Amino acid sequence: MTVLEVPTTPDLLDFDPDSAIELLRAWMTVRGEPAYRATQVFARLWLRPVRSFEDMTELPKALREALTADFRLSALELATRQKSTDGTEKFLFRMHDGQLIETVAIPDGDRMTFCISSQAGCALKCAFCATGAMGFQRNLAPSEIAGQVRELRLLNPPIIPTNIVFMGMGEPMMNWKAVGPTLSLLNDARALGIGARHITISTVGVLPGIIALSERPEQFRLAISIHAPSDALRKTLMPVNTKYPLADVIEAAKQFDRRVTFEYVMLGGVNDQPEHAAQLAQLARDCRAFVNLIPLHPGGSMGFTPSTTPVITVFAKALRARGVETAVRRSRGLDIAAACGQLRTERLGRRAPIAADEHSEIGIA
Ligand code: SAH
Repeated sequence: MTVLEVPTTPDLLDFDPDSAIELLRAWMTVRGEPAYRATQVFARLWLRPVRSFEDMTELPKALREALTADFRLSALELATRQKSTDGTEKFLFRMHDGQLIETVAIPDGDRMTFCISSQAGCALKCAFCATGAMGFQRNLAPSEIAGQVRELRLLNPPIIPTNIVFMGMGEPMMNWKAVGPTLSLLNDARALGIGARHITISTVGVLPGIIALSERPEQFRLAISIHAPSDALRKTLMPVNTKYPLADVIEAAKQFDRRVTFEYVMLGGVNDQPEHAAQLAQLARDCRAFVNLIPLHPGGSMGFTPSTTPVITVFAKALRARGVETAVRRSRGLDIAAACGQLRTERLGRRAPIAADEHSEIGIA
């Protein structure tokens, strides 16, 4: 039996800036082209993006054709776009294999924050999360993670982000292989040029990922989804706590050389009592963390109800009284029926397993 080899050309959107430029330089050299052509092409991938090599009209036609023959520039197909009355927009993208992922663009004064996905689905099964209920499908490639930003920049008119949060679908630290190069693409001045302090990676506390992030020289921000101040309670909400218990996560946060943010979703009667505030304050003080209190998206089922506003206010006061800097997040995009997680579920024709929106609240520290 003969095996037919499918010819694949490298996707230039999968390489970090140094690797992409190096690859292009080597290719230009072989063709007898000047080396500056490499940076010229690279600038058209992210900085001033175009859809295809053909659109790089500043290059000679023969060169554009040769690039098209030897490299790919993948695209994400925009399946759905929805806009909230508060300006928040949700995008559903279809990957080449039919997988669907979500991206949210949240305007706030001068800021435009993109909430991006790092995996299709998620393996972690946090009890209150819509993406967790879907299960894990696959990791995304850099061209699909940074590609979400590229696609929004390619819209007419373009949407340009000032801030990025990895709070879309998936656990970024379980896909460090792709998230690492993606961080370079987001931050590098030759690519998307977003300041490292404006890029936040949110994790349930996957320790190897936190260590990898701390080893990066750039000042990327780390947010940790705590959601419960004791192992006993956290285990019931976040199965991952068995693998990475609270004490280890707090220790990693302590070691992290930049200020960490705790995310804490307020679940009525579950984790919002005075004793929880006292325990959480202790953990936050141990590692000098900033706490974001996140209202559970209203309409959430799975046995959870959002904490009431007075309860959240009292909880925030209790933290502040113990010297913990605390913010209560506003919900955004609530009127968009197809909220994050749900949008994908609806599109696939399944019944939405829960009505919760894991991104109703985007913590921007
Ligand atoms: N896996 C990463 C990033 C994706 S989720 C993490 O867990 O940190 C981003 C944030 O949204 C997390 O803090 C998550 O716990 C929270 N979230 C999930 N479901 C939610 C819901 N229904 N309401 C409010 N926040 C939710």
